[in-house]
Amino acid sequence: MAEEKKSPNQELQEKISVKKESAWIQLKDKTNSIYNFGEEYKSFIGKNKTERLCVRTIIEMIEKAHFSSINTKGALKPGDAVYKNIKGKSLIACKVGSDPMKVRIIGAHVDSPRLDLKPYPLYEDAEVALLKSHYYGGIKKYQWVNIPLAIHGVAFTREGKTVEIHIGENPDEPRFIIPDLLPHLAKDQMKKTGETVIEGEDLNIIFAHIPVDDKDMKEKIKFNVLKYLNSTYGLIDEDFIAADIELVPALQPVDIGIDRGLIAAYGQDDRACAYTALRALLDANECNATVLLYLADREEIGSMGDTGAESFVFINFMREYIRKTNISATWDELLENALAISADVTGALDPTFKSVNDPNNVSYLGHGVSIEKYGGRGGKYSTSEAHAEYMHYLRSLATKHGIPWQTGEQGKIDIGGGGTIAMFMSRYGMDCVDAGPCMLGMHSPFEVTSKVDIYCTYLLYKAFFEDIR
Ligand code: MN
Ligand code: MN
Repeated sequence: MAEEKKSPNQELQEKISVKKESAWIQLKDKTNSIYNFGEEYKSFIGKNKTERLCVRTIIEMIEKAHFSSINTKGALKPGDAVYKNIKGKSLIACKVGSDPMKVRIIGAHVDSPRLDLKPYPLYEDAEVALLKSHYYGGIKKYQWVNIPLAIHGVAFTREGKTVEIHIGENPDEPRFIIPDLLPHLAKDQMKKTGETVIEGEDLNIIFAHIPVDDKDMKEKIKFNVLKYLNSTYGLIDEDFIAADIELVPALQPVDIGIDRGLIAAYGQDDRACAYTALRALLDANECNATVLLYLADREEIGSMGDTGAESFVFINFMREYIRKTNISATWDELLENALAISADVTGALDPTFKSVNDPNNVSYLGHGVSIEKYGGRGGKYSTSEAHAEYMHYLRSLATKHGIPWQTGEQGKIDIGGGGTIAMFMSRYGMDCVDAGPCMLGMHSPFEVTSKVDIYCTYLLYKAFFEDIR
């Protein structure tokens, strides 16, 4: 059958209109690589559900690839690979390029929304012992009830011994739960707004149930918990104060859909970008620029604090880098001339809640890595914005390497939005743009991404590290 001949206008239309095609079609020859990458990614995020676990595992991974702590290095030369561990919660890893005056940065965050324990969390009521939590990050609180929870954290005994607690990830371990009210008695609760149907002070986690057999004692269940914590870990009640303890969904990543095209997992914001950027750093060959992976903590609560992107740790690292590479530049010159990607996720168009987005300016699952010129909210508040020149550069980079990409805004103008670390990185004067996969159910206990978008994100980050400009 002869192909239908296109009219000159049809031909021109193809040339000058944006084509929005599924990345699954564009990368149909790479389906195996996409699935394989998805398996490695799932394995990583299933095992690393806190910022501390991410940083520890990533240090193990990069040390295998011959990165060493910058503290152990007197001098740095092209080809050297070093990292700085920032209080076990944030990390800067860097490969010195053949031109150490040039710097390329990909910055992601390794913290995710979760439930932290209060300073005095433990109490007993109605025949159970409970832990009071203070949620971290922007969550819909009602999503965190009636799901299995695991506990991860570190505490210090009065003698100063470090104690690690990890319960609820292995099949033979117990889980924890915040039970919701039964519908039969929820007449008043159901009249509340979504924001108050479960309130902050309702996030009380069931931790134990069996009382000690001693009729003269009060708070018999609480006592049994303290006895267990003391005999197992050497901890006393007061040690919760000298602790970072987090409750996270005790759910392992799974494939979604009969075609296994999607992944549901906890913490994909932003470990999807942390993992893909890490892989890009490990896999990037022969970099001309010094390439730097920055994994920030505390992004979900506004990047404040000494492990967040708003702190000066980045400057401190650059000072040390300059001193040890012995290049004649100041940290502000290096950072002002650096190129950066703020590696973070964005919202995908949700077929059930389409009204919150402008359908022409939203990211779609499976359409490749989303490169977003700006984030923030109505009126472009609380965001930086990538310049036309830099957007052109990234668009060209993706096109040159055949990497499917898309762009969009997170939400209709007056509805809402979101921030990333882009605004903190761009403060130094560097060009910076947000790029990462889009997702459904962001900040929920089980977020959904497309495997092809995760793969495209990795490809773009790697191309960015390897590019010469
Ligand atoms: Mn994020
Ligand atoms: Mn987030």
